[in-house]
Amino acid sequence: MKTTRADVAPPDQPASYTWEATSEEVAERYGLPIESIVRFDLNTSPSPPALIQRLFALGRSDTPLSEYPPGDYGRLIAAAAGRYGVGTDELLVGAGADEILDIIAKTFLQVGGMAVVPTPTYAMYRVGTEQRGASVLAVPRLQDQDWTLDLGATREAARVADVVWLCSPNNPTAMPEPDGAIAGLLGGILADAAADGRQPPIVVVDEAYAEFTGTSLVGLRTVYPNLVVIRTASKAYALAGLRVGFAIARPDLIARMNPYRPPGSVSVVSVTLVTEALLDDTILEDNLARVALERDRLAAALCAVGWSVGPSVTNFLLVGVGSVEAAASVGEGLLARGLVPRTFPTGHPLVAYLRLTVRDPAENDRLIQAVGTIALEMHG
Ligand code: PMP
Repeated sequence: MKTTRADVAPPDQPASYTWEATSEEVAERYGLPIESIVRFDLNTSPSPPALIQRLFALGRSDTPLSEYPPGDYGRLIAAAAGRYGVGTDELLVGAGADEILDIIAKTFLQVGGMAVVPTPTYAMYRVGTEQRGASVLAVPRLQDQDWTLDLGATREAARVADVVWLCSPNNPTAMPEPDGAIAGLLGGILADAAADGRQPPIVVVDEAYAEFTGTSLVGLRTVYPNLVVIRTASKAYALAGLRVGFAIARPDLIARMNPYRPPGSVSVVSVTLVTEALLDDTILEDNLARVALERDRLAAALCAVGWSVGPSVTNFLLVGVGSVEAAASVGEGLLARGLVPRTFPTGHPLVAYLRLTVRDPAENDRLIQAVGTIALEMHG
């Protein structure tokens, strides 16, 4: 039976984003010094302090801190256009990819609308959709195929949708879609919309982790007018605290989103430092090389205790620890040692998994050591 809008009721109350315990809470709960708490739950790999110092040294702020950032984020947009190989009129700046998601939802979703969310994926697609009074049409990803998209079901769901939220590489499953899969889906969605005589839905491809793959789908925007790609300085550039993200789309879509953008949500400091980071080749290269080395080392150590570590191109690992109970006790064991994993709630398809960020060598050593002890305690 074909899904229609009436099949999925919008919730009375939007879903909230949920965080793990704060570092302060963990420190207090387990009597640990606050500085010993390490966040393995947020997909933020630290930058060596020297790199950050270099950025500060390079950074030349045209704007005093007593003033707002330039309304057009001119230098930042120019640096991003060069980095991503797009026109300056094809970019929108936001306070992190999260604000870009919010702007997309505000622009393209209304009360009674519908958005496709292939699950499991980043929680904010549901949150942003429900905040608009629109409904989520969840389409399960294919667990036995490394959690790739169910292309047929996603395309079918897109027939009644206003927005399709895709994420590649996907958080929390850590792999990109196979080559050509999203292009094929975009083509199918456009063909269906033409056949049905309706406007095609906006297809968002969240590429928060794209730098880790060395490829991007931004080039497809010239073929598919309904494509919006999202990028961020938070992950491969390791500058999450600066809160800078971008939407990349054809100029007409950027112009439609622009009215929903707050006037100065990205700080003068962030504009300056992210501009320098985007202009600099070595920062990205160094980060990617470091993450790849540490990712392989961490994955090998987690496999060595018998856990199943999914393939990952990103700065995090999805780790199956065997059962829901095991995931709960490993999660608790790590927390008690001041290491905060990302856990998944009851009813989530990944409730028997943990997601662990690849961090710096000393922090990863602590995780590896803790995992060895916890696994011994569990299996005797
Ligand atoms: N998209 C995905 C897929 C993410 O994993 C995250 C952060 N975890 C974001 C967007 C938000 O990133 P930002 O820090 O740029 O807001």
